[in-house]
Amino acid sequence: MKMKKNKKKEVVRCAVYTRVSTENQAEKDYSSLESQKEHILNFIKSQKFEGWELFGVYEDAGFSAASLDRPELQRMLRDIRKGLIDVVLVYKIDRLTRSHKDFYYLIEFFDKYNVELVAVTQKFDTTNAMGRLLRGIMLDFAQFEREMTAERTRDKMKARAKKGLWNGGCLPLGYDYDPENKKLIINPKEAKIVKFIFETYLKEGSISKVVKALNKRGYKTKNGKDFIYTSIRHILENPIYAGKIKYSGEINQGNHEAIIDEIIFEEVQRMLNRNKKECKSIKQNKYDFLLRGLLRCGYCGSNLTTHYTVKNGDRFFYYKCTRIQHRDKTACLSKPLPGKEFDNVMVKSIGEIAQDNRLLKRILKRSNHVVLNEIEELRKEEIKFEKEIERKSEEIRKLLNLFLLDKNPPIEVREEVNKRSKEKEELEKKLEEIRLKIRRRESTVIDFEIIKKGFEGFYKVYPSLEPKERQTLARLFMKEVKIFNDKVDVEFLEFPELAHQDPVQILKEPSIRGGESYSIDR
Ligand SMILES: [Zn+2]
Repeated sequence: MKMKKNKKKEVVRCAVYTRVSTENQAEKDYSSLESQKEHILNFIKSQKFEGWELFGVYEDAGFSAASLDRPELQRMLRDIRKGLIDVVLVYKIDRLTRSHKDFYYLIEFFDKYNVELVAVTQKFDTTNAMGRLLRGIMLDFAQFEREMTAERTRDKMKARAKKGLWNGGCLPLGYDYDPENKKLIINPKEAKIVKFIFETYLKEGSISKVVKALNKRGYKTKNGKDFIYTSIRHILENPIYAGKIKYSGEINQGNHEAIIDEIIFEEVQRMLNRNKKECKSIKQNKYDFLLRGLLRCGYCGSNLTTHYTVKNGDRFFYYKCTRIQHRDKTACLSKPLPGKEFDNVMVKSIGEIAQDNRLLKRILKRSNHVVLNEIEELRKEEIKFEKEIERKSEEIRKLLNLFLLDKNPPIEVREEVNKRSKEKEELEKKLEEIRLKIRRRESTVIDFEIIKKGFEGFYKVYPSLEPKERQTLARLFMKEVKIFNDKVDVEFLEFPELAHQDPVQILKEPSIRGGESYSIDR
């Protein structure tokens, strides 16, 4: 948690949320409000060193998780809005909600107010790196959900378009909307301008010339503005003027009257396409490199930069070592990497990793490696202290035995007992600290299910994202990708060196199997 690192002494205000639904018998023995609370309070105690303190307990008794309409939950959300809470703790996520939609909503809400979420029995904890990674994925899921809804709306609009119904939006120049008959009707004054646009373009073959001619005559757009290049292009390409309705690539017969004859419209399309091809060498789609900024040259350590070459009018996109870019080909051993292909391979590989439990377990083992070692060391110390305490106890017992034998033991013995007792207390304090440390470390061990969901999430969400969002998601997952000519080292976020692979091989046969190193004669 950022806040914690910066101001270590600062208090972290914890809200405890518990819930039971009385109607659900199965839940009854699963955990009472009291036992949920106890678990969570213990957890907060274990984070005492981080400044965690209880702010308040919110208990919803007899409410189902199907809706967010719960009095105590709402009170907690109000307190979050007021900025009173830093961390929300639940026993399990399902205490908070059982609906994915609501969960995404809450995750976004918490994120907005910089509130972390911890499910104490599920190792879901956004105060650590893995949790943050997951939250990132959850946020993308939230986006995905919204897009799905948009998708359903699009489907509806598509159905309307099939029936020749206009789908609303910006009213096209040349038409008015007749709400009574629910159809487009021709606006004669504007229709004249539309006809002028098509005729001028047929004559001149240039959109720029059409723009000039229109503005010279003082013609205005529907919003009373001057015409510009893109607005004309839009009009010329709009099949609505030929009496059709276009929706997401599909063109259907509309129920409105055409302004332009279909034959003229088709001819204009052919001209537009011809001109487009001629411009192709100048203007061409840019490619948004997925792994931009993540790649590093395995030979010289420089970043890889993006560039392209043009062959027969087509662009080819590459990642290339900046050292070569800035000096010359001899400056580094590395060879350029085809951009699109490599990006695709990486995405596909993540999808495959998600399916490969054996590999996931290996990643997990590696990423948990450090913390598990720490826990092991702490356990050894724990045993050491336990033994020492036992020894002290034994010594004290022996000294006390002297009292039994001699009713009046020398004062030194008394002092000796006191001394040992104090030492024992000191040791016990230290033991308690070690045990707390162990509990804290244990809470950062990453859970298999969570890591699996993370990888699956990436693969599922990816296709629906915009290029910029894809880049963001890639950054959530990968810290650095080291490129050699014969292998690739992927450092997943928080997972040290997952995969060593031969890029040539994976480009041919996409699959990343982690941990295996390929050496190829160059
Ligand atoms: Zn290099």
